[in-house]
Amino acid sequence: MIDMVYNGGTSTVMILDNSTTGMTGHQNHPGNGKDIRGREAPVLDIEQLCKTIGVKHVAVADPFDLFELEKILKKETEREALSVVIVRRPCLLLDGKSVKPSVLIKGCKNCGRCLKLGCPALIKGDKEVTVDETLCTGCGLCIKVCPHDAIHAGKAGKK
Ligand code: SF4
Ligand code: SF4
Repeated sequence: MIDMVYNGGTSTVMILDNSTTGMTGHQNHPGNGKDIRGREAPVLDIEQLCKTIGVKHVAVADPFDLFELEKILKKETEREALSVVIVRRPCLLLDGKSVKPSVLIKGCKNCGRCLKLGCPALIKGDKEVTVDETLCTGCGLCIKVCPHDAIHAGKAGKK
C-alpha cells in the first residue's frame, strides 16, 4: 500500500480482520491483542497504520451488516482515490459457544440469491437449495438475503 500511495493508485484494498490467522491454525498476530505466548499485548491499530502511510480514505465495516457493507464498498470502489475497507468481525471458531449450526429452508423458490454469498454449506439442487449441516455455522447471513423468507434459524425439522 505504501507503493500505491506513492504512485497515486486508485484501488480499494479490503482488509479482512477476523482477529486470528485462520488459514494456518488460529495463531495470534499483532492485530488481535495476544502475543506469541498468548499473553495480553497492545493491539495494532490497523486504521491508524493505513492513515500513517498516507491512505486518506479508511472505512470499517461489519461483514454481518451486509447492506451497509455493500453501500461502503460501492462508495469506495467508485472513488477516484486509494481507499481501504477494513471488514472486521472475530472468527466464529474463536468462541465455540457462538457456533449454532444449521438453518431450516422451507418453501425455497430456487432463485439462487443466497448462493451468491459463496457459503459452502448452501447446496444447489434441481428444485431447491439445501443446507449441509456439517458446514453451517449458523451465521444467519442467508436468512438476511433470501427474498422469499424461506430460510429460518433452527435445526432442520425443528422450526
Ligand atoms: S447460516 Fe451462514 S453458514 Fe449456515 S447456511 Fe446460512 S450463510 Fe451458510
Ligand atoms: S434465496 Fe431463498 S428462495 Fe432463493 S434459492 Fe436461497 S433459499 Fe431458495
